[in-house]
Amino acid sequence: MDSNHTKTDEQLKQQIRLEEIRLLYGGTPFSYTASFVITLIIFNVIQDHVTSKTSLTVWLVIMLIVALARSIDSYLFTTSSNESQADNKWRYRFFAGTGVAGFCWGLLPWLGYTDSVEYFSFIIVCLIGVIAGSLSTLSYRWETMVLFLLPSSIMLILKLLVQTENFFSETSFVLLVFIFFSLSAGRRIFNNTQQNIQLRLEADNREQAIELMHQKQALHLQNTALAIIEFDISFNITEWNKAAEKIFGYSRDEALNENIMRLILPRDSSVDAEKLWERLLNYEAVIGYIIENKTKQKKPIFCEWFVTPLTDDENNISGIAAMALDITEKKNYELTILNAKEEAEKANQAKSDFLSSMSHELRTPLNAILGFTQLLNYEKKLSDKQKSHLNEITKAGNLLLELVNQILDLARIEKGHLQLSMEKVNLTDCFKDCLAMITPLAEKNQLTLNIDTSTPGYVIADFTRLKQVMLNLLSNAIKYNVKDGEVNIKVLQKQNNMVRISIIDTGVGISEKLLLEIFQPFNRLNAASNIEGTGIGLSISKQLIEMMDGTIGVNSKINEGSEFWIELPGKLNITTAVEKESKASYASQTLNTINSTKHNILIAEDNPTNQTLILSQLEALGYSADLAKNGHEALNKMIKTKYHLLLTDCNMPLVDGYKLTRTIRARGNNDLPIIAITANAFPDIKAECLKAGMNDLITKPVNLSTLKQTLEKHLL
Ligand code: ADP
Repeated sequence: MDSNHTKTDEQLKQQIRLEEIRLLYGGTPFSYTASFVITLIIFNVIQDHVTSKTSLTVWLVIMLIVALARSIDSYLFTTSSNESQADNKWRYRFFAGTGVAGFCWGLLPWLGYTDSVEYFSFIIVCLIGVIAGSLSTLSYRWETMVLFLLPSSIMLILKLLVQTENFFSETSFVLLVFIFFSLSAGRRIFNNTQQNIQLRLEADNREQAIELMHQKQALHLQNTALAIIEFDISFNITEWNKAAEKIFGYSRDEALNENIMRLILPRDSSVDAEKLWERLLNYEAVIGYIIENKTKQKKPIFCEWFVTPLTDDENNISGIAAMALDITEKKNYELTILNAKEEAEKANQAKSDFLSSMSHELRTPLNAILGFTQLLNYEKKLSDKQKSHLNEITKAGNLLLELVNQILDLARIEKGHLQLSMEKVNLTDCFKDCLAMITPLAEKNQLTLNIDTSTPGYVIADFTRLKQVMLNLLSNAIKYNVKDGEVNIKVLQKQNNMVRISIIDTGVGISEKLLLEIFQPFNRLNAASNIEGTGIGLSISKQLIEMMDGTIGVNSKINEGSEFWIELPGKLNITTAVEKESKASYASQTLNTINSTKHNILIAEDNPTNQTLILSQLEALGYSADLAKNGHEALNKMIKTKYHLLLTDCNMPLVDGYKLTRTIRARGNNDLPIIAITANAFPDIKAECLKAGMNDLITKPVNLSTLKQTLEKHLL
């Protein structure tokens, strides 16, 4: 900034010097002519009154030579280029010429006069005249004035002082005063001239800068990608730049004086244009207004407009200045993205529908496989081999069920359908439940579980989903452990009121490279093929924990083990009882058959395999049951027989489970417990069942103990 300033000042100084030298040389034609004429007159007047005519002639010749040399110098200056005129040499040459001329004029009084007083006085008058005259042409530069004035006047004064007459010594005093005033007047003139030059140059510079700016702006406006258009209040176009020509296809000549509305506005956009016009009439500048326009070739395009009203001196709107940007490509791109998004949403919807139906379709046969296997397990006559086969079927069925459940969870999370119920979860309760559920697996794998179930404290989480995550981490810690290994749970109070729960195993560990992929869905890393798994558990766990405002992470070392940790908002060492959901306790697989029951149950189910299964399950639980193959048949049966509970499939032909329930309730039977059995595991199903008037819901595959508990809940 400073250096810029200095540079400008320096440039200005140079400009001033150039101007001074031009002014000095500019005055030479007049001053040289005048001095030439005066020289000749003096020569003519005094030639007969000097003591030596030769010296007068020499003086005349010198004067003429000096005048000629200075005239040539002046001519050379005026014909030289601008840059060359800025050269300092001209200054020095001019100074030298002035000094020599001053000295030559100073010689004049020393020539020796015969009629001393009269002609000498004439000389004095002439010299004073020359000195006074020089002020006007030399005062542009202080030094030139001094260079001329001093030699000429001092030599005159000296001559006066050596003259014997009294009159001359007094004249020399007057001359001194004259010289002094001439110099001081000259100095003032010089200062003023300097100031004037400076002001004029500054003004010139400013004007030039403004002119340059205007030129630049005009250039920008012509070359910008923005169409710049102006029109008056009758919509007649008054300005139309190159970009406007390019965007709308009309040349400047074609567009000027045309009505802008007719030229570039399709009929469909007139409403938009009117709205825009209203805002402009309210003196409002409109920024980023997108409107459909048309080109000369009648092609529709989209433009973004930036429009400002122009006002006259009385603040009346005199016209409009508008800039437009062609955003057709951007708009088309947006439309493509929008279409792609719609397509993706449709595809996503199709995926969800597919998952929903897949879940349903898989659950129905799974219901039969797991249900019948469970029933068979209670057969007493089975051989060990048969039992082992049944065990394999159960294992495979359970894995398939886990996969179906996990895929459903993923789909729910993706669709944002998974709803969490956040609460203070007592760590002791959570760990107790987990321990109970995971112990059989740990025992089977011969591992030690170190879980301190009396851990005071809580975390803010969804109880069921937290357990799901913990069980996934615990079962992994067991599955990917070594024989006689250990699984530990540690808790730690972290900063920012976060509690860290770590599940630490002594297993195979995970390499650093694989750790980067561990939370990706369906990625089983390098898990041994004999270890069952789906590769989705950790991905779901991560999403669930993040939905609960927590974080999940892992540290691992090959052959040493892994630490999977979750951090959730919470506090440790809080012993006060924490409110918690009523939780189903771990259901033992031991079947407690009810020996006798007076309860008669009606089943509405259309699928023959499921009919057989549910009948067998109810029989195993000791209930007597009737079967209806659809809702219609169920209604008929209920007219004839009194039932204590209805178990109904949701999807049946003709009269489905919902319609059946609504009809029963509409007939005024509000006491009969109605329990839906459905293969659809989406959460909104429960709400739909309750809305239809049902009391509860069991999801297929129907687990015997769940069936037992649910029935007891509604019958006792
Ligand atoms: P799954 O266990 O069903 O395969 P997960 O998503 O739970 O799926 O885990 C993904 C993969 O991460 C596993 O297949 C396994 O290779 C690896 N893994 C998970 N937990 C551990 C652990 N504690 N020790 C070693 N590897 C593990």
